[in-house]
Amino acid sequence: MRGANSYLGSIGTTIFTVMSALATEYRAINLGQGFPDTDGPADIVQAACDALRDGRNQYPPMPGVADLRQAVAAANRRFYGLDIDGMRDVTVTSGATEAITASLMAVVDPGDEVVLIEPLYDTYVPVVRMLGGIPRIVRLSPPHWDLPFNELAHAFGANTKAILFNSPMNPCGKVFTADELGFIADLVTRHDTYAICDEVYEHLTFDGARHIPLMTLPDMGQRTMRIGSAGKTFSLTGWKVGYVTANAALTPLVQKAHQNLTFTTAPNLQRAVAVGLAKDDAYFASLSRNLQARRDQLAQGLASIGFSVLPTHGTYFLTADFTPLGFAGDDVAFCRHITEQAGVTAIPVSAFYEQPGAPRHYARFAFCKRLEVLQQAIDRLKSHFAAR
Ligand code: PMP
Ligand code: GLN
Repeated sequence: MRGANSYLGSIGTTIFTVMSALATEYRAINLGQGFPDTDGPADIVQAACDALRDGRNQYPPMPGVADLRQAVAAANRRFYGLDIDGMRDVTVTSGATEAITASLMAVVDPGDEVVLIEPLYDTYVPVVRMLGGIPRIVRLSPPHWDLPFNELAHAFGANTKAILFNSPMNPCGKVFTADELGFIADLVTRHDTYAICDEVYEHLTFDGARHIPLMTLPDMGQRTMRIGSAGKTFSLTGWKVGYVTANAALTPLVQKAHQNLTFTTAPNLQRAVAVGLAKDDAYFASLSRNLQARRDQLAQGLASIGFSVLPTHGTYFLTADFTPLGFAGDDVAFCRHITEQAGVTAIPVSAFYEQPGAPRHYARFAFCKRLEVLQQAIDRLKSHFAAR
């Protein structure tokens, strides 16, 4: 039999699926894959149920239902002062995952270089490669995750077509500063390239840190594809409703990519997400406030066990150095060990690195869980490490 696709044959199953399966096998508390353990807002879920029953269940418009595209435009205006025309500038996709692929497809030709920043989300490199693009990866390292300005500047060259990056950033909880974004914007303009901004955690920031979309910087409106996800904004990760905001020149290309990937997204979920985006400011404030309390609980609990916990200013995640616990093994072995022996699952941070030499003594823990579940996880880890 002839070989099938050689690139897909060469890559493994995503770490999130691997660790969730292990958590199920060992009945561990799953602080690995990032999903809340409570349902999203009842009114949004009800809106989805109602929308199923009003007879509009056939193919919705390819770029997304008008309600949602207009709601995305209104949210862009309300939160960031962006002047967006929903019917011209917004595309609804099946999750941010599709939005990332569609945005890359919109600009990348074979042979183009795409600048990426590791630690990185696990679809970035495979999709760039499958499009025939060449990843140029710049590394951020714990414990400070500082953006290395010089290396970033050197990653841009004559063949650069785009930069794709994530802020607030999974797994390290970094929220890019105005200075860092200004530096990136300058490179994007000087090299006449595009920016794909994965902003799925835009509303999940802590300690007063504010997310700034690159798109709000001078000259960036025409170069940026800004990606959001209802999964994160409304704690409904299984819905897979994402949206891309881009200008009138780029949007038709994003839409042609989308028409060839999924063509459309479940209409009832789209209409319910439109209801969600219209929620009042109190909803968005309480989302991050509640999550911040969970972060604090998990961070304090892990620190009391001996982990060296790094600060996190956004996302569902914190990273912790397990070196002080004296475990003899790398992060993959550690995450497997605590799943099997302590009944708590985490994700090895090295899984977010593409190039050799990744840090191998950090684990990523998701804190988007009920406080009592986090406490149970802390108790399990505490008694496990006390007994060793
Ligand atoms: N980007 C990042 C950085 C993520 O962590 C995730 C995880 N959900 C996604 C994209 C994908 O979002 P969605 O579930 O909407 O496809
Ligand atoms: N974004 C989630 C995480 O980082 C996982 C999404 C997925 O499983 N594909 O945990």
